[in-house]
Amino acid sequence: MSHTIFVTKPLLPSFEDYIEEIRDIWADAMVTNMGKKHDLLQRGLESYLKVENLELMVNGHGALEGALQSLFRKGEVITTPFTFVSTTHAIVRSGCTPVFCDITPDDFTIDVSKVEDLITEKTVAILPVHVYGNLCDVDILEAIGKKHDLPVIYDAAHAFGVEKNGKGAGSFGTMSCFSFHATKVFNTIEGGGICVNEPVYREAVQARRNFGMIEGEVVQDGGNFKMHEFSAAMGLCNLKLMESAFAQRKKVFSWYQEVLSGKGLQMLVPQKNVASNYAYFPVVVEKEDCGFTRAELMEGLAHEDIVGRQYFYPLTSGVSCYRGKFWGETPVAERIAQGVLCLPIYPGMEQEVVGRVFRVVDRLQNGRTL
Ligand SMILES: *Cc1c(COP(=O)(O)O)cnc(C)c1O
Repeated sequence: MSHTIFVTKPLLPSFEDYIEEIRDIWADAMVTNMGKKHDLLQRGLESYLKVENLELMVNGHGALEGALQSLFRKGEVITTPFTFVSTTHAIVRSGCTPVFCDITPDDFTIDVSKVEDLITEKTVAILPVHVYGNLCDVDILEAIGKKHDLPVIYDAAHAFGVEKNGKGAGSFGTMSCFSFHATKVFNTIEGGGICVNEPVYREAVQARRNFGMIEGEVVQDGGNFKMHEFSAAMGLCNLKLMESAFAQRKKVFSWYQEVLSGKGLQMLVPQKNVASNYAYFPVVVEKEDCGFTRAELMEGLAHEDIVGRQYFYPLTSGVSCYRGKFWGETPVAERIAQGVLCLPIYPGMEQEVVGRVFRVVDRLQNGRTL
């Protein structure tokens, strides 16, 4: 019996490499509060991600809250429900009200043709999500933001390493928020970062992260969202592995494309001028196109010891604490959420796993019993 294949697996450096990286933390006895590892990682990531100013945070959720709260504006935030619930929680926990915009059926990002209709005098920000490494239409969103004088904050948790026309994903918007959680393409175990692209917000973000303090003085309210040295050390080790990690992901991605094309499953389509990070391999299962349901596919995969993930399902507008509470008509997001399933993809995943997925699909389509 083979071992269970999960949808992802954390990127880990060798044990020896990590031990070597944390050794000098003992010499300085500085374990947190923007120490040497923190600063090294900040600079390393700014260069790797091609962004001007990245403030490291304790996690991706803290980054979203930190960014929103640094606007010091309360009101409606236009966002999408096709995301991890963290995005919507960050809006609610910042004292704002989410207004849900629909997504496009092709790349699952915010449908920019519907954004302006949702803007009211109560709108204070737009918070779109880059989904599965697909970038939102950043040019149109920038124009909408400018026209209506609204900050655009991207949830870039899925977009680590993604570039458009050679520009880093984090360089778009007023601010862009990354997650460096263990399940993401790049991890610091738990961690995150805010690219502060408009310098006026930089001090507010830094203060927000550290009890409202700037140089020892409490200038505003704030929390504790600092990244400690052991997380930063993990990031420094993992940063060295990214080229190889992306190459391995790309290989898995192309294996899936090869065996699943022509089967009636919707797969990601490369975006124009965008270098992807191959973070996820979602398929959208619609019975009229492929002949089986998502539940049947999941059951078939389970027989092969493969665990897919219904990500994102339910929509964040449909979770029990938010259902019926906030406004927004999102039929496309509803439809995609009903059919989407993320298949396993991570560096080092063997081709044999893709072979098993293929066999499951083949059996379902040819009516043989499992
Ligand atoms: C992972 C994720 C988050 C939250 O990041 P954490 O680092 O886990 O706090 C937010 N939004 C999206 C889209 C995510 O995938």
